[in-house]
Amino acid sequence: MAKSDRRPCCLNSAPPLLLGAHVSIAGGVHKAIERGAEHGCTAIQIFVKGNTRWDFPPLDSLEIKMFKEARRNSSVKCVIAHAIYLINLASGDPVVRHKSIADVVDELRRCEALGVDSLVIHPGAHGGLGTEAGIQNVARALDEIFDQVGKCRCHLLLETTAGQGTALAATFEELRAIIAQTSRRRRLGVCLDTAHVFAAGYDLRTAEGYANLWRDFDAALGRGLLRAIHLNDSKGRCGSRLDRHEHIGKGLIGQQAFRRLVTDARLRGIPMVTETPSSPDPKEIRWLFSVAKRARSMPQE
Ligand SMILES: [Zn+2]
Ligand SMILES: [Zn+2]
Repeated sequence: MAKSDRRPCCLNSAPPLLLGAHVSIAGGVHKAIERGAEHGCTAIQIFVKGNTRWDFPPLDSLEIKMFKEARRNSSVKCVIAHAIYLINLASGDPVVRHKSIADVVDELRRCEALGVDSLVIHPGAHGGLGTEAGIQNVARALDEIFDQVGKCRCHLLLETTAGQGTALAATFEELRAIIAQTSRRRRLGVCLDTAHVFAAGYDLRTAEGYANLWRDFDAALGRGLLRAIHLNDSKGRCGSRLDRHEHIGKGLIGQQAFRRLVTDARLRGIPMVTETPSSPDPKEIRWLFSVAKRARSMPQE
């Protein structure tokens, strides 16, 4: 792949504002770039295949070419992908495990072909095996995935979860345990979802809750592992473990937390995308950009 096909998410000097939404690929992957650009997004998230099916036709070379061309000429500087919801790398069921590994390998290859920067996955649910066994299963599956994929520049990001049912990764310690047990740590990163961490117990409504979130993230994982943020308000209460996204400012988190996130100088260069109902929501994106840009025009302390 030519160097110019891939744009880095972070530039060395002044990290760009990478803000946007999850957008549909209906009509072809290149359409996602157009949809993002229409709303002024500088970052988008896409699915690289139908999100509710294991089998999906491969990307053809024309689709890949059109995607790269669209990206080259658009405001969208960073593209991340989200894996299908069927995968469960923590599963003890050999069929589910096999399908999940094959799927993530396929999705990483699609991302690589498109020049997508990162692929986000949910680590999985142990389904009664216990947290430790689930973590071991995920770590082994990740090693197997990277063995099969071989050389690849796309990072695989493990997303924080609300901890519903037996889902792993409601705590940063569980994510750390998974990453510590793999032999491919440099290929991995973390995607933090605001609705999930709120439902898992971080009260983002207060300055103290916001500070605690990053204190714990840095202590367990280190900020270098943070590679994406999902900006979602929550229908579920703080600590409820209920994973229900809501429009920004309309849920129980409220606008203030999102103001803090998009104006936090330490998070510049990290792609932030909304996954709220009916995403991309033009009003929501406009509001996020206006808050972020107002802060950027003011001197930083
Ligand atoms: Zn997700
Ligand atoms: Zn998410």
